[in-house]
Amino acid sequence: MILIDGKKAAAELREELKKEVTDLKTKYNKVPGLTVILIGDMTPSQIYVRNKEKSANEVGLKSEVIKYPDTVQEETVLEKIEELNNNDSVSGILVQLPLPKHIDKQKVIEKIVPSKDVDGFHPMNVGNLSSGYESSVPCTPLGCYLLIKKIEPNLSGKKAVVVGRSNLNGKPMTQLLLKENCTVTITHSKTKDLKAECLEADIIVAAVGIPELVKGDWVKKDTIVIDVGINKTDKGIVGDVDFDEVSKNAKALTPVPGGVGPMTIACLLKNTIECFKRSQI
Ligand code: NAD
Repeated sequence: MILIDGKKAAAELREELKKEVTDLKTKYNKVPGLTVILIGDMTPSQIYVRNKEKSANEVGLKSEVIKYPDTVQEETVLEKIEELNNNDSVSGILVQLPLPKHIDKQKVIEKIVPSKDVDGFHPMNVGNLSSGYESSVPCTPLGCYLLIKKIEPNLSGKKAVVVGRSNLNGKPMTQLLLKENCTVTITHSKTKDLKAECLEADIIVAAVGIPELVKGDWVKKDTIVIDVGINKTDKGIVGDVDFDEVSKNAKALTPVPGGVGPMTIACLLKNTIECFKRSQI
């Protein structure tokens, strides 16, 4: 079984991006800039944002974090986004989710100009992705996609099962696999026989949020299994895949932690650079 090392893949990607930033600096005499808006003092969000800033600096991007207390008015955030939309030195804007209840998440997402939407959440980017056009792609599914391609560069005709239909993970993952000519089944909480669906798959991507849902006897030999789940349990952090069981059957499997997680941030940097490059055309 191939243990898919997300930490190593993310380090390699960051190295490539660092070189690209150096080249862009030579060509344009400026570097891509990422601005993150962090609202409130939720510890996980603070940790994510700190890691994003550290990684951005590591590859040579200009990075900035704008912090607001969780009492900030929605209008203040929207005005700041407008200002960043019009600031040429900002290539990518990310508003760290979740937001306080009084702020409308959709309004915030839609305020970010699609060309700077590094999370790929704006309806314009969602539509472009599903139409097969150039777009920002949400970072986690993009990371999964790059890991799958490392194991199997030619995905044409493969059967893929995506478990979970969230806008964040399942749906964009489905679009990326379709683009690669996979035959994709998207499953969810109302799917009748998830085990039978998974047993058909050459590729399984599990993004559910249920600890160890995908069992060993749901996976046929030679399947590539990508585990997006991050679940806190009594025995520590586990994924949506039963690692011990599935590792006996699968061709390749991502561990949790150390699989998809590290790729998510590296893909955010990649998206920022892509936004910068598109803005220079
Ligand atoms: P979500 O709660 O938005 O969506 C979960 C999906 O799973 C839903 O579409 C639902 O229909 C489906 N589902 C629920 N029960 C099911 C069942 N019994 N069988 C089949 N499908 C079922 O979740 P999300 O935001 O996509 O996150 C999923 C997991 O991924 C979570 O554990 C989250 O923490 C993790 N996550 C990891 C990263 C990362 O960087 N590795 C990033 C984002 C989310």
